[in-house]
Amino acid sequence: MMSRNRRYPWDLREVPWSDLPQFTRGTQDGTVLLSWGIGPRDKLATRRQLRAMGLRPGGQDPAALLYFRHRPSCRQVLAELFLIEHAKPVRPMTPAKRAALDRAMAARRTCRQCGDDAGVELPRNGRVCEPCRYTLGLAPDDYLHDYLTGTPIDPCHDGRDTELAPVVPITPATTTGAGWKEVAA
Ligand SMILES: [Zn+2]
Repeated sequence: MMSRNRRYPWDLREVPWSDLPQFTRGTQDGTVLLSWGIGPRDKLATRRQLRAMGLRPGGQDPAALLYFRHRPSCRQVLAELFLIEHAKPVRPMTPAKRAALDRAMAARRTCRQCGDDAGVELPRNGRVCEPCRYTLGLAPDDYLHDYLTGTPIDPCHDGRDTELAPVVPITPATTTGAGWKEVAA
């Protein structure tokens, strides 16, 4: 069995964060490879670690790549490490930028048919809310199509022909009449 240490042997070489050659795990596409725990934490940081310090890479290329095993997926992943000394402070969010972002997020939630704020981000394809999609007639590839008009699928189907109750379409709720808004006022 080939071990990871055989795959990434120790390699003493010049590195961007030190005047003296440092032990590395070789290179990948010209960038120094490091294994867990050998990079100097006061000189190198990931994008996320920079962000926690109020910094951003600021256009620099990664100084090194850190390989480690992502435990939930059991996959080996690479993280880009940047030089902290070359990092720049994050640009502050101006009121104008904040307002533009809010507008963009609101547009994603607003139904283009009825103009209601759905409260959640609507599908990028059309930005139409579920009641409107139901009223307009559903596209064959819409996930509501199978739910409302197709044959119900029994997730516990064991091969026998079982009879399932037919799907009853739900009437979209109306906003007319005494609503909670009047009660709250
Ligand atoms: Zn709508």
